[in-house]
Amino acid sequence: MTFSTLGLSDEIVRAITERGYTTPTPIQMQAIPIVLEGGDLLAGAQTGTGKTAGFTLPILHLLSANSVSANTNRNAPIGRPPVRALILTPTRELAAQVEESVRAYGKYLKLNSMTIFGGVGMTPQVRQLRSRVDILVATPGRLLDHVQQGTVDLSRVEILVLDEADRMLDMGFIRDIRRILALLPKQRQNLLFSATFSNEIKSFASSLLNQPALIEMERRNITADTVAQKVYLVDRERKRELLTNLIRQHNWFQVLVFTRTKHGADRLVKQLTEDRIPAMAIHGNKSQAARTRALAKFKDASLQVLVATDIAARGIDITDLPHVVNYELPNSPEDYIHRIGRTGRAGADGEASSLVCVDEHQLLGAIEKLIKQQLPREIVTGFEPDLHAKPEPIQNGRQNRQQPGRGGQSKSRSAQPSSQKTVKRNTTGAGSSKPSLRPSAPRLSSGQQH
Ligand code: AMP
Repeated sequence: MTFSTLGLSDEIVRAITERGYTTPTPIQMQAIPIVLEGGDLLAGAQTGTGKTAGFTLPILHLLSANSVSANTNRNAPIGRPPVRALILTPTRELAAQVEESVRAYGKYLKLNSMTIFGGVGMTPQVRQLRSRVDILVATPGRLLDHVQQGTVDLSRVEILVLDEADRMLDMGFIRDIRRILALLPKQRQNLLFSATFSNEIKSFASSLLNQPALIEMERRNITADTVAQKVYLVDRERKRELLTNLIRQHNWFQVLVFTRTKHGADRLVKQLTEDRIPAMAIHGNKSQAARTRALAKFKDASLQVLVATDIAARGIDITDLPHVVNYELPNSPEDYIHRIGRTGRAGADGEASSLVCVDEHQLLGAIEKLIKQQLPREIVTGFEPDLHAKPEPIQNGRQNRQQPGRGGQSKSRSAQPSSQKTVKRNTTGAGSSKPSLRPSAPRLSSGQQH
């Protein structure tokens, strides 16, 4: 998918291409068509997902496409041209950043934007507000100062964006926001972005939004560019040896290794420790103190390997890891995305390696179908799998898995008022290659590259 196929104008596509964007991020793929259609949107996404362009690009498109009709609105007061899109942000920094994006993406359009925030003089802002401002990016407090002074007119806003709405509520802006909402026309498009969905956000969203589409992005967003995903084909019994080999050969440090079971995590830690690779486990059977200790050591880089189960790893925040290893593939393909999203954030290079034995080819197929790409296979010399090996049922597999179920955490966080349409999440920007269950033409490696 490209920005053009999403329906954005040539001028916008030109500007973002110059900026170096070639493929829309997952949130952009979902948000842009919704916003272009004119509907309200509730999006669970945080910085780093490309959310800013997700709302900015379609707003620019809509405003430039409808510029003539809006300005010839017979009911519009004569005089100052209207503010047509209002973007509220919690902080000055974010306001400045968003407006910078608006300017960059809209550089070939005839639309004007400005920021309004406190801590700087009013006069230059008042002066700028006298000229045409199509898109206003503002923090709530200073915007209300302008409202009180009569220097801004919000009566013809067509599109409202609340960016980082959870932070705005945390910062106590709710009353200011409600006062601003009261100044806007009733008929308008509303877009609300929030990293989390507290009860407060849920009730606020349901009072503000009109039959919104819902988009939820994973906390950690994966892109093919920053996470190198690889499958190592190996026999079931030789995974531990291969892991030790890979860690040593490539000098991997800060490796987060996922196992399917708590027991498997403990066993792997024992074996790695025997191989003199410092490792600790976190899972549901460990005391909170032990988990905290293991995590602290891992974060401050005094522990080389942290072995975790999916559920234990969900609630923890370890960012920008260089290596994630799927020692065993997860039963739920969505957990694969949760797992590997812990590496390669914000442009940092990350590696996600999966050790896959004959029992797991079906799981691999399901993952590849979900992420819409075929992962490169590799066989390390000395670890060639037995091509005649028969798959065995996965122990402690699906039938033992009680909760939290598919995509557990993100779903339990979400607000989904009954009136909402749910938009299916698509977490990769990849094309749709057919999944292959067979390990076709894997690349042989000596295990010494990288
Ligand atoms: P945001 O989540 O909006 O703060 O964006 C995070 C970063 O991703 C920013 O530096 C953007 O410039 C960048 N970005 C946004 N969309 C894309 C894209 N489609 N391709 C590459 N980079 C992007």
